[in-house]
Amino acid sequence: MKKFTRKVHPFLIGLLSAFLISNQAIAQSVSKTTLIKNVNGYTIDGTELKRFSAIQFTNDTIDQVYTLNQMVNVPKNTNIIDGQGQTMLPGLIDAHGHVLSYGLSLMRADLVNTPSEADAVQTALTYAKENPSITWVRGRGWNQVQWKSNKYPTAKSLDIAFPDTPVWLNRVDGHAGWANSKAMQLAGIDQNTQSPAGGEIIRDESGYPTGIFIDNAMTLIDNIIPEQTMEQQKATLHKSMSSLASLGLTSVHDAGIDWKNIDSFKALANEKKMPIRINAMLYLPSEKWQEILKEGIYNSSDDMFNLNSVKIQADGALGSRGAALINDYSDHSGHKGLLLHEKESLVNYINTSMNAGFQVNTHAIGDNANKLILDIYQVQIKQTKTSDLRHRIEHAQVLRLVDIPRFKENNIIASMQATHATSDKNMALSRLGDERIQGAYAWRKLLNAGVTIAAGSDFPVESPNPFYGLHASVTRQDKQDSPKGGWHPVEKMTRLEALRSFTIDAAYAGHQEKLIGSLSPGMRADFILLADDYFTIAETQLWKNQVQQTWVNGRKVFQKKH
Ligand SMILES: [Zn+2]
Repeated sequence: MKKFTRKVHPFLIGLLSAFLISNQAIAQSVSKTTLIKNVNGYTIDGTELKRFSAIQFTNDTIDQVYTLNQMVNVPKNTNIIDGQGQTMLPGLIDAHGHVLSYGLSLMRADLVNTPSEADAVQTALTYAKENPSITWVRGRGWNQVQWKSNKYPTAKSLDIAFPDTPVWLNRVDGHAGWANSKAMQLAGIDQNTQSPAGGEIIRDESGYPTGIFIDNAMTLIDNIIPEQTMEQQKATLHKSMSSLASLGLTSVHDAGIDWKNIDSFKALANEKKMPIRINAMLYLPSEKWQEILKEGIYNSSDDMFNLNSVKIQADGALGSRGAALINDYSDHSGHKGLLLHEKESLVNYINTSMNAGFQVNTHAIGDNANKLILDIYQVQIKQTKTSDLRHRIEHAQVLRLVDIPRFKENNIIASMQATHATSDKNMALSRLGDERIQGAYAWRKLLNAGVTIAAGSDFPVESPNPFYGLHASVTRQDKQDSPKGGWHPVEKMTRLEALRSFTIDAAYAGHQEKLIGSLSPGMRADFILLADDYFTIAETQLWKNQVQQTWVNGRKVFQKKH
């Protein structure tokens, strides 16, 4: 660890200056104490569940958590709030999500289930009016098969509503796009434009493009849509984080971002505009990755934005048969999936990151990818002496049983997404077969082997709602209560274990367990108030719990409207 300490020296200087700045800020502002009383509070202390009835904090830090029946001594000038008996939990942490992609998905007009072409146009128009700053109107979800016309729409209907603004609306399956004339004009598309290989421009009787582009022809429009400016990206991130706050998330580990995205977060943190905490992973390899590693780890003065880890992708996903398996896919003989990098490149990324003092988080889904990453980690962790960096495997979805104890042996965290199990269950069995499925989504086997599981959702692949994840962890059922008794029920977590994985264990996985993840004096005031008691409502109802308020750093960032 000696070598490592020397390397973080610039970071210590950063910390010191951050400390001075925050002290000045506090000296200038009057400290504010808040007491929220009459709550049904739960927090986890070590492995134990603790209950409390009131919480008191000054500015961003918890002063006191009052246990049941304990006398509450309120300091003068305290702002007192009645919690009305609602359930309070520590703020939930998603250890693996994609904040910008989720934000972009929120910046699209939602055309799913629009009943006609005219309705789809109207929906896009309403969306454009609500978002006056956008320069391109984007949307997704239309499906002409659901319309009475049962015909592809055309640019003409869009042109009436949008004569001057380019519009680009994707079909529900993503395999076709619908453009208006302005978009086609900007792309230089006319009757002479040829359809590219693997794509088709739909034309009218006179050979003019109608506005519908199929598969590879969609790139003709996609390629001319300007990249977001930094201000637009910041607005998208802010929208995304505000939505995540409304679901009860107070911190997210952003699973692989580039330098621009890092700069946007730093700017938002400097402007004090972060609704929730972001613990970011730098995507490797991406532009300037070596320079960013050399700059060292980064923490904003209020810990709302941290960068101390990298994300590397070892293989693809199970659904598309891209996950790298040791033996053939059960439903596709001769096919084992794909590793995305040569072993030497992986070793280079991992070794460089570890030596720079960064935690390494590698996406591995198939058993071959997991075995390979465990092999590399085992050697590199010893060589770089970075066991304390708590390196992670993202997903750890399909494991050989012999590989499970290797997580604990090498202090490796399994960063897993419970809703993947309940979404994938039928597909996973056909891809893997009866034997390999024993080591798939194997939470109980990992927990029994002493492994820390950090929970997440992988939004926007799955919904970011953490209550869906808590529900899936506890029941191993989907929201229709299927299958009965749960899918491979031996792998279920208890409610306490599931909550741990979304709070203190996720905080530990982000090196933040001394800051967030539980509620006790000295910790940051990150918590949520809920409609229902997480520990007593029926298991099948866990996913329906509604967040009433979300607080981050002692500040209310979400209030449910009644
Ligand atoms: Zn992901």
